[in-house]
Amino acid sequence: MAARKPYLSKSRLISAWQCPKKLHLEKHHSELAVITPQMESLFAGGHQVGDVAQQFYGTADSVEVAFDFKTMVAETKQLIDGGADFPIFEATFRHENVLIRADVLIPEPGGWKVVEVKASTSVKDYHKLDCAIQLWVMRESGLPVTSISLAHINNQFVYPGNGDYDGLLVEHDLTEEATGLKQAVVDLLVDAREAVTGPMPDRNVGTHCNKPYDCQFQSYCWPQDTKYPIAGLGGSKAKLGEYVALGVHDILDVDENSITSATQQRIYRVTCKGEPEILDGARQQLLALPYPRYYLDFETIGPGVPIWPGTRPYAAIPVQWSCHIEEEGGELRHEEFLDLSGEPPMRALAEKMIASLGDSGPVLMYTNYEQKVIEGLIEMFPDLASPLEKIINRLWDLHPIVKENYYHPDMLGSWSIKAVLPTINPQMDYKKLEGIAEGMGASDGFIEAINPETDMARKQELEEQLLRYCKFDTEAMVEIVRFYTHHKPA
Ligand code: SF4
Repeated sequence: MAARKPYLSKSRLISAWQCPKKLHLEKHHSELAVITPQMESLFAGGHQVGDVAQQFYGTADSVEVAFDFKTMVAETKQLIDGGADFPIFEATFRHENVLIRADVLIPEPGGWKVVEVKASTSVKDYHKLDCAIQLWVMRESGLPVTSISLAHINNQFVYPGNGDYDGLLVEHDLTEEATGLKQAVVDLLVDAREAVTGPMPDRNVGTHCNKPYDCQFQSYCWPQDTKYPIAGLGGSKAKLGEYVALGVHDILDVDENSITSATQQRIYRVTCKGEPEILDGARQQLLALPYPRYYLDFETIGPGVPIWPGTRPYAAIPVQWSCHIEEEGGELRHEEFLDLSGEPPMRALAEKMIASLGDSGPVLMYTNYEQKVIEGLIEMFPDLASPLEKIINRLWDLHPIVKENYYHPDMLGSWSIKAVLPTINPQMDYKKLEGIAEGMGASDGFIEAINPETDMARKQELEEQLLRYCKFDTEAMVEIVRFYTHHKPA
């Protein structure tokens, strides 16, 4: 008797296309997956766009096929065979044990137009394969498909408010490309079945671990069994994958002659030495900074489906800031802004920041993100341009100074504030923060907190975590500056 063909969904086929080992692990060792807040955020973003699509393509009589493995294929068949002449969401089809759910089916003369909805802002190559899989299953199931399109987010859309998302999605007809990929789908299916039914595919790590999606099995596949895992050498993932294939798991085991970039040479050299490299340049520059000194950090959100009128998809919208103010004697004051009412907070945020930052003194930031955020505020509120531009002129970026003058082996190739801080003060480690910082990103925490369905106790908990997290960022900057100014290299 022939072996039963394993069930596969479209997303499993896309996994097999990215890496057969990924599919194998998803099927047999899901316990090894590490789902990051970013991955969860992407997933949630996809749902929001799906909801907008239903609003956009829906009619008074449109229906959604409920997610139930036992009934969804039969329910779809019943609707189609019953002569449905209205849009169907999540119509489900199965062919050769490949199960797909179509985001939108729209009746047209001669058949059905299919629309796949994505939260991206352009058509990517793998979207064509995605559509090809849908098309293959639907046509082989007997559905007369007239065309298949991909609808993605238009990042130039400006939300007018009142739930009006007309124009948020733009459609691209991919019928020709998807039809042309029919054989590729059939070939992919063969590989996917082998990955599922056979032993774990022998696939080395490399660029594909993050393309097109960040793989959830990286902590399993990339070496973690050493003090200085090779991924910390940075640079191209393809080159790092080559090291792993040669059995090199630790930065210390790399052949020095194989390293060409100056940054990697530095990481290698300092790691081999086993001691941090602290150059005197940072100290000189920081000692020269006048007082009062302001340490500023924003938290932003960037939802694909805009929340507030006048905002664009994925634009970084500031919703919170923290500022430590340091006087000449070392005395510190703290000011902050966070509004969880759900109303647009940007104007009040800008006004309070202008008042808190005074007229003079350097405004320290870590990376130039803060500058971009303030430029965004100028765009939103041209009448505040003058005071905001004055703040921009006072900005002072700590990141390049730190990068040029400091490296500790435990930073594992990263100069992010999260990597630097515990190496200069082990008591201050973002990993010790619970909730926001480790478990979830600040932007997800903010969005959950302003959701009217979030209960008061949870909202309060999120408020405390958000305030503590943003404050920690500016404390970290103070700590970094103090470290440098008090540390005299030998
Ligand atoms: S981490 Fe890389 S090698 Fe491992 S399963 Fe994922 S994509 Fe494949």
